[in-house]
Amino acid sequence: MSDETVTRAPAKPVRRRPDVVATCRAGTRVDLAKADPGETFGWDKAGAKAAFAEELAVLADLHLKLRAAQQRGLLVVLQATDAGVKGGTIRTVFAGFDPAGLAVTGFGVPSEEELSHDYLWRVHAHAPARGSVAVFDRSHYEDVLVVRVNELVPEARWRRRYGHIRDWERMLGDEGFGVVKLFLNVSLDEQRERFQDRIDDPTERWKFRLGDLADRARWDDYRAAYQEAIRETTTRDAPWYVVPGDRKWVRNLVVARILRHHLELLDPQWPPAESGVEGLRVS
Ligand code: ADP
Repeated sequence: MSDETVTRAPAKPVRRRPDVVATCRAGTRVDLAKADPGETFGWDKAGAKAAFAEELAVLADLHLKLRAAQQRGLLVVLQATDAGVKGGTIRTVFAGFDPAGLAVTGFGVPSEEELSHDYLWRVHAHAPARGSVAVFDRSHYEDVLVVRVNELVPEARWRRRYGHIRDWERMLGDEGFGVVKLFLNVSLDEQRERFQDRIDDPTERWKFRLGDLADRARWDDYRAAYQEAIRETTTRDAPWYVVPGDRKWVRNLVVARILRHHLELLDPQWPPAESGVEGLRVS
């Protein structure tokens, strides 16, 4: 045994990064009751924030490449129960994206014109263009969630929508667009705290509606609707992820990792230079 071997410090155990992308991916038998909204995956706040900063830089690079390539696009669907902080997630996780290649669309109660069309009409217009990322803050999934819970259309009709949605998303995939769907999973306790904070803070109060309490009272109905919608529409090419939502620093890092994974799957490449450009000297 050489001296060098004797004096060498013992090898540090390699701390494997948890594969949160695989862990959070929802299968067709996902059980929301077993998904812990307070999960930390062993991270602490400081470590997660540092890792998130690194992910932001990687995401910005991938987005730039996607824009340059102009071949493929990505649809990101964000769903959550009230106080899921979809807006805050978008502001934080997409902070490094070039706004020119990012379109965020919120879907609220449909207008009269929207209701006079089929339910996918209003969303399709906002699907991503090649080279861009489209984020849906609520989405066509409301048509099997709030519509189901509030019995806005007969069951036989909303049930058929699972099939339409799978087909529509598959069409996007076939045409070169990635689809990724995120459910920000917040606990009933955390929702109570966030509602109370909103009510108590005059700068946050505008986010609170009395109707939020009516939806809170239907918590179990919404969970059942989410569970079934996720099970029915999670597919290989358009998967759902259940993201632990009670701790913002966990949520941000998990969402960033998932987005990175899906942007990498699109594999954007720098486009070839115009012929004659390579090696050109500008005089
Ligand atoms: P958010 O809660 O996302 O910040 P809003 O306070 O504007 O935004 O709420 C949007 C509302 O629109 C929600 O209550 C949601 O259930 C409702 N909504 C969205 N899509 C539909 C739909 N297709 N049919 C009925 N209501 C819908």
